[in-house]
Amino acid sequence: QAKREGRDRVSMFSVEQMRDLEDRLVMGNQLRNAIRHDELELHYQPQYRAADRRLTGFEALLRWNSRQLGRVPPARFIPIAEALGLMPEIGEWVLDAACRQLRAWLDRGHRGFTVAVNVSAQQLQRHGLVAQVGAALQRHDVPPAMLDIEITESSFMENVWRVQRTLAELKALGIRLSLDDFGTGYSSLAYLKQFPIDKLKIDQAFVRALPVNTADASIVRTIIAVAHELHMHVAAEGVETAAQVDFLAAAGCDELQGNHLGPALPVLQAGERFDDGHA
Ligand code: C2E
Ligand code: MG
Ligand code: MG
Ligand code: MG
Repeated sequence: QAKREGRDRVSMFSVEQMRDLEDRLVMGNQLRNAIRHDELELHYQPQYRAADRRLTGFEALLRWNSRQLGRVPPARFIPIAEALGLMPEIGEWVLDAACRQLRAWLDRGHRGFTVAVNVSAQQLQRHGLVAQVGAALQRHDVPPAMLDIEITESSFMENVWRVQRTLAELKALGIRLSLDDFGTGYSSLAYLKQFPIDKLKIDQAFVRALPVNTADASIVRTIIAVAHELHMHVAAEGVETAAQVDFLAAAGCDELQGNHLGPALPVLQAGERFDDGHA
């Protein structure tokens, strides 16, 4: 009896695993053609200065509208793209699209803003990223200081020396570097002095329960203090309430991003955010 149950359980688990594998295969096959089928799109989430609520720029966030699967969130398809080795090509598309949009906004007369692009650990570990970034900037005649590249702590897990060199080369191009999801990875304060980071982005996990949760309030104040001591800017992600805005501004956080101030928007709606420039 026990043996039967055991076998049934094994076979049920396998069916689930098979489905998951099948999903990933289907998704992978669709993903291979996503660029060619024009299914990728960038949305832009506004970022605001906390002190005066002025628009400072946007974070480009990848969207996949698959003709077969519908909208698939990046948290689902990016790991698959990485596993299949599609990320260099998709990442290059993202860089190109973001720089093209930056140029379009410049051509419309907008000034003094940045566009942030996410770069995964795997993209950073591979050769060629620096050349890709440099080429995209040149192709669209974009001032490097207007481009911000967001990396995560997981990028530092392997080949630290190579990552260090890549980041130094990116900085030499004149772009900005932000450390995304700060506090959730294998955070080590040692990284902060080893890498040329301009901005820390406090992960939304620490923002969510503000201002009520006193532990999170302490953590956030401490991150802000450390960042400022090291001459880095600090931004908060996932700001969802007016009370969070007030807390973060009072705590000295430099920039705010989140649904309360504005979600990731399609290009046209994002562009409207320039109009009054205030949150
Ligand atoms: P991330 O870079 O930390 O981006 C922030 C995520 O939080 C975005 O999710 C954004 O839509 C969401 N968000 C913004 N404000 C709020 C809020 O107030 N509340 C909540 N609950 N969420 C908020 P999204 O767009 O689904 O992206 C998820 C992750 O996928 C990103 O996290 C990033 O790690 C990755 N990603 C997105 N686009 C790209 C890309 O072009 N390249 C790479 N390599 N990764 C990307
Ligand atoms: Mg990001
Ligand atoms: Mg983040
Ligand atoms: Mg995140």
